[in-house]
Amino acid sequence: MNNAELFERARRVIPGGVNSPVRAFRAVGGTPRFIARAEGAYMFDVEGKRYIDYIGSWGPMILGHRHPAVEEAVHRAVDQGLSFGAPTEREIELAEEILRHVPSMEQVRLVSSGTEAAMSALRLARGATGRSSIVKFEGCYHGHADALLVKAGSGLATFGHPTSAGVPESVVQHTLVLEYNSVAQLDEAFALHGPKIACVMIEPIAGNMNFVRSSLPFMQRLRELCSQHGALLVFDEVMTGFRVGLGGAQALYAGSLPGFAPDLSIFGKVIGGGMPLAAFGGKRSVMEQLAPLGPVYQAGTLSGNPVATACGLATLREIAKPGFFDALAERTRVILAGLIDAAEAAGIAMVGDCEGGMFGFFFASELPRRYGDVMATDSARFNRFFHAMLDRGVYFAPALYEAGFVSAAHTRADIAATLDAAAASFAG
Ligand SMILES: *Cc1c(COP(=O)(O)O)cnc(C)c1O
Repeated sequence: MNNAELFERARRVIPGGVNSPVRAFRAVGGTPRFIARAEGAYMFDVEGKRYIDYIGSWGPMILGHRHPAVEEAVHRAVDQGLSFGAPTEREIELAEEILRHVPSMEQVRLVSSGTEAAMSALRLARGATGRSSIVKFEGCYHGHADALLVKAGSGLATFGHPTSAGVPESVVQHTLVLEYNSVAQLDEAFALHGPKIACVMIEPIAGNMNFVRSSLPFMQRLRELCSQHGALLVFDEVMTGFRVGLGGAQALYAGSLPGFAPDLSIFGKVIGGGMPLAAFGGKRSVMEQLAPLGPVYQAGTLSGNPVATACGLATLREIAKPGFFDALAERTRVILAGLIDAAEAAGIAMVGDCEGGMFGFFFASELPRRYGDVMATDSARFNRFFHAMLDRGVYFAPALYEAGFVSAAHTRADIAATLDAAAASFAG
């Protein structure tokens, strides 16, 4: 069956034909590609067409597909049994490996998805502070837990409204949504609600509105306000963790703001290396509020699954090798600069930003700083570019509010082919 036939068949038995909405190509139109297999920097669809993959399963595949060390670790784990529901040594090894690179955390708990990690961190923050209100930012995605599917209310005195049917107003009545990078809104929100705020959750580099960094003054003020008011600062590094660098985005902020650290952090994507695995962690005093030690309940049948931990551990050990991120970041910079050059040569305004193996580009003349800026970029041009590239065998994320990912498997030749395709797409 070809892509179109499979899509029709899928839509009969799976809502929208997909198991996660953005895969359906609704933003860009057209038929989703059904992937048969992947290898290195490439994915192959059921029609045998090859694509240079800049999605990397939305972030996890930082080593490229089918990395030999990862495959071997997974095969070995499978040979020992799929799931035990009892503790294993490998869970300790993975926890130790994560903690080794993230000094803000003393303990970590493993879960199976970023959504679960965010939901659990939220409960822990509320349990540890004894407070109910939470703050998030417009354009940040923290998975699909009810309390986090919220858009801004009509003002800072009011809390948010659900962005999904099935989420009662009462469930989001404690969620305040602020504009990303707005120091003024932060100040106002803490002045109005400070003593009630359990935590502020943020994507330090927002990858769910393409690629937008928190400015240093904004991050510094956020840290100050959380500390002054006794609220926990929660870094959602599900995307940026072990992707923008070994220590995640927090290492970048700590590098510029002495002593900087979030109180809780959540990870996913890369730490599972392509298997369902995520984590949340922080200081021992906060983490020990969790069951079985403390009153905050949290659990999971498949948490710390032996195959997933083998996959994650093998991945982290590869990317911790000296020079890995320097080489990855260099590749990413070359791709981004090349795309911008190709656009400029065609007289098209494009800007972009990148860090480690993550990048974003916008059809705009200035880098967006907040969600509204991202949504004001040229979406029609993005959609044309997306399809022109896909036709030429280059697979970018099928929506302009998604980041791009480069892997260690992308060769010079892949990058050159990508940039040739971009030049041809802009000319056509
Ligand atoms: C992907 C993502 C999540 C959700 O993770 P899932 O594993 O899809 O549940 C949460 N936060 C951020 C920043 C993400 O990019």
